[in-house]
Amino acid sequence: MTDCIFCKIVEGKIPSRKVYEDDDMLAFHDINPLAPVHFMIIPKKHVDSLAKVGPDDVQVLGKMMAKAGQLAREQGSPDGFRTIVNTGRIGRQDVYHLHIHIIGGANPLPRMIAKE
Ligand code: AMP
Ligand code: ZN
Repeated sequence: MTDCIFCKIVEGKIPSRKVYEDDDMLAFHDINPLAPVHFMIIPKKHVDSLAKVGPDDVQVLGKMMAKAGQLAREQGSPDGFRTIVNTGRIGRQDVYHLHIHIIGGANPLPRMIAKE
């Protein structure tokens, strides 16, 4: 998709700090990290959001989830991590190319979400 910042990262038109890449997915560090470890795993194919996935996306999404633990350990989150997929208006998604945030580090994170 021409106007998608993450598609441009996949195409190498915008630089990123790469964590992992294969034919189906790319992982790169978040430009504004919220914890000592914070990177994203995205499908190379443009998919707007988790609310818009179709049957063709299931295998790649499974591969992305299955890769998360290994990459988190390698990046310095040895004993678990948090995955976040902000989705749509309610989920406060900013970039409309599906991405899984992988967030962690050496120490436990704050609790999941602040109650209002
Ligand atoms: P969200 O869509 O709300 O899950 O957030 C999008 C995330 O993408 C934010 O955490 C941004 O810091 C991150 N981000 C935006 N542009 C870039 C970029 N060029 N390289 C790396 N991360 C980015
Ligand atoms: Zn895209």
